[in-house]
Amino acid sequence: MNVNTNTTTKNLLDTPIEYLKGVGPKRAEMLNKELQMFTFGDLLNHFPFRYIDKTKVHLVSEISPESTFIQIKGKLSMPILIGEGRGKRLSAFLTDENHDSIELVWFQNAAAVKTYLKAGATYIAFGKPNQFKNKFSLPHPELELIEDDANLQLESRIQPVYSTTEKLKMRGLDSKNMHRLIKTLVERLDLKNDIPENLPQYIIEQNNFLSRGEAYYHIHLPKNESTIPAATNRLKFEELFFLQMRLCKIKTDRHLKSQGLRFAQIGAYFNRFYNEMLPFELTNAQKRVLKEIRRDAGTGYQMNRLVQGDVGSGKTIVALMAMLMAIDNGYQACMMAPTEILAQQHYEKLAPLVEPLGLRVELLTGSMKSKKLRRRVSEGLLLGTTHILVGTHALIEDTVQFKDLGLAVIDEQHRFGVEQRARLWQKNTLAPHVLVMTATPIPRTLAMTLYGDLDVSVIDELPPGRKPIKTVHYFEAKRLMVNGFLKSEIDKGRQVYIVYPLINESETLSYKNLMEGYEQISRMFPAPQYQIGVVHGQMHTVDKDTEMQRFKAGETHILVATTVIEVGVDVPNASVMVIESAERFGLSQLHQLRGRVGRGAEQSYCILMTGEKVSSEGRLRMKTMVDTNDGFKISEVDMNLRGAGDISGTQQSGMLSMKLADIVKDQHLLVLARNTAQDILANDPTLEQPEHEMVQRFLDAMQFNRSVWSRIS
Ligand code: ADP
Ligand code: MG
Repeated sequence: MNVNTNTTTKNLLDTPIEYLKGVGPKRAEMLNKELQMFTFGDLLNHFPFRYIDKTKVHLVSEISPESTFIQIKGKLSMPILIGEGRGKRLSAFLTDENHDSIELVWFQNAAAVKTYLKAGATYIAFGKPNQFKNKFSLPHPELELIEDDANLQLESRIQPVYSTTEKLKMRGLDSKNMHRLIKTLVERLDLKNDIPENLPQYIIEQNNFLSRGEAYYHIHLPKNESTIPAATNRLKFEELFFLQMRLCKIKTDRHLKSQGLRFAQIGAYFNRFYNEMLPFELTNAQKRVLKEIRRDAGTGYQMNRLVQGDVGSGKTIVALMAMLMAIDNGYQACMMAPTEILAQQHYEKLAPLVEPLGLRVELLTGSMKSKKLRRRVSEGLLLGTTHILVGTHALIEDTVQFKDLGLAVIDEQHRFGVEQRARLWQKNTLAPHVLVMTATPIPRTLAMTLYGDLDVSVIDELPPGRKPIKTVHYFEAKRLMVNGFLKSEIDKGRQVYIVYPLINESETLSYKNLMEGYEQISRMFPAPQYQIGVVHGQMHTVDKDTEMQRFKAGETHILVATTVIEVGVDVPNASVMVIESAERFGLSQLHQLRGRVGRGAEQSYCILMTGEKVSSEGRLRMKTMVDTNDGFKISEVDMNLRGAGDISGTQQSGMLSMKLADIVKDQHLLVLARNTAQDILANDPTLEQPEHEMVQRFLDAMQFNRSVWSRIS
């Protein structure tokens, strides 16, 4: 984030880093290269990642197997390189005041580390001890050289620790010297004028925040422990607030300015479908979401709505009815799915529902090569005789032109790049309404960030009469019993999925291999009594489809598959999902896979098979799956385990790269930032009031990473 909001006068923080006392051209060049640090402002924004409290030093004798992070002060022995090639490591001993020693080891950059370690000097080593037999060691400790104990007394007891690199350390820019530079800088600044406030005074007062200048001061030069949280809190809030402000503003601006198509009426198609053809009563959640969509589409601004709903919550029917609203108002609609199988499936489901209404639905996927067929689809779209187009991303190709596209539904959105979503907007002079359906529930706080510019609807209710899926976790030893159970289910006429994490033994031999598994299963479930199909990502689409169709038609009893079946596939008669090496899967993936069963009237089962050795995190994942069927709960656990970046996929993780704040650890601040941004915009949508002037100025001056913002706006 750019600290300088003052774009007219020159700010001290824009000064090139080399002019700071103690830097100079050589170090400046290193800082540019290694940390992308160019100006005083960049240095000021290089925050400590933790603080050392020098009063809390442990003795080697105090280390126990329960110790997490420890700090040992002692004299360093001569470091020596041990071993050859890949096994090479650097080893040194640190001996504390009781003459007890602990080994420090480095496996990476061993030679480089050796060059700057000073044998005989006193260090404070910080790290997580590793136990081997009865001995502890500290792998890759953070080291701080204690040059002079007398000097130490004068400095603060709380010392910030800064990230740096091996190369910078070799040039004398270790954490401690980095701190010295920052101290030089901070003491030179006029906190009020050089670090101008960017939050309205009333917000600072309401929340008891430090001023911006004070926060920067105390995060780098804390007086004592108690000033650190106040400083980081203020700066984290600021970071989250401006991100939320930006997102909420996109939304507000869309509501204010961007003209959309107006679906003025609910017409005959919608009503006939609802009254005469809908095979069941909608759940209250479905009704509520439909009302939200209707309200959006009726206002005359462009709708950008995200519908979140757990697997099986009935998103498809909501999408269909939204499409009927578009058609009732003279527009066309399209529905985009992430895979051919899903597009095909949507098409097959939709066609019989809407064709009796006299509507024409077409399917368009990448594998449809026939020119004649494509021409027929194109003509129907251009003439307007085709009302609904279902397809894969082939749908967004420039050659696909609609007469008047009114609504684009994007299903299972997490598989789509958000750029692709944006291309749909451009299919009309007036952007069509957009409905994004995600099958992977994500925590509310994550949705605020990733989809902060969208309106969000949640289908938080399953259709009535569903039997909750029974989930169990078994170790390999129960294999025979599991096979017996599968046989009894198949004998009852049900079908079974067996899912493997890998297609070939590329990673580790210990993992189940799909093909090997397939052979084993074939032996356990011999033909002709049992028919087994196989589907994996490296098969041709046509072959995959054939296998899927055979399973759907009930010709195969068992479908051995990789995660290609993860999303959306619907075979109601399949009632058992066996997941092999389940510890290899993330929680949201496990939940998605489990969602493939429990679609029919029968009791369904999900069996998680793992080896005996499962990490504690793996065990927590299995336990979570066994304990709950609620996708939102599962996604919370998942986010806490893996962090927000991982669960959202790489596509959008740029949105989550914040300097200080962490949307998992700082959820309360995120919610506060979101609410604050929304309140401000509700009162002052164009940020014209004097007390909001600095907010607008700061938003304008922020140098956002373009690629990040183009992804969402
Ligand atoms: P998802 O949200 O996972 O996309 P679907 O839209 O595929 O779920 O719906 C799952 C199943 O539930 C479908 O077979 C659908 O016909 C059925 N369904 C949807 N809504 C209802 C409802 N209100 N009552 C009963 N069944 C419903
Ligand atoms: Mg679906």
